[in-house]
Amino acid sequence: MTALLVIVTHGDKTAPPPAVMVLLGILAGTLIACYILLIGYVNRDAGRRGMSRVLWTLLAIFVPNALGIVLYFILRKPRLLNCPQCRAVVEPGFGFCPRCRYRLSPVCPHCQHGVNLGDKFCPYCGGDLGTGMNAASTQVPIQK
Ligand SMILES: [Zn+2]
Ligand SMILES: [Zn+2]
Repeated sequence: MTALLVIVTHGDKTAPPPAVMVLLGILAGTLIACYILLIGYVNRDAGRRGMSRVLWTLLAIFVPNALGIVLYFILRKPRLLNCPQCRAVVEPGFGFCPRCRYRLSPVCPHCQHGVNLGDKFCPYCGGDLGTGMNAASTQVPIQK
């Protein structure tokens, strides 16, 4: 970020008036504050997504022009969830908890695709979910 300050203050051969300097200083300060906040966010968020916190924090700090942060937002994994029953870490998209077989998301009883709660018809096969889904979710045996 010091490079940015150098560019800002040395961009012009003639020194800008003090008011402009103050404004630029505030702007640079805000940018640095945002940068630090983003690095902090990357650090916490990487942990929640099961990614390497150290690696991504270092990338966010040392890759120039905040490219490490941009890269992080492109490459980051979906957030990990916890099973509501046994608190095991489950990946998004899982239909069942791999530890306790808790049903994490409703599935179509006809084609077993994941569907949204409240859907009346399956968006994949067009099957009726009205009562079938409720029946299916109660039929699943839950192992402790
Ligand atoms: Zn579980
Ligand atoms: Zn279906």
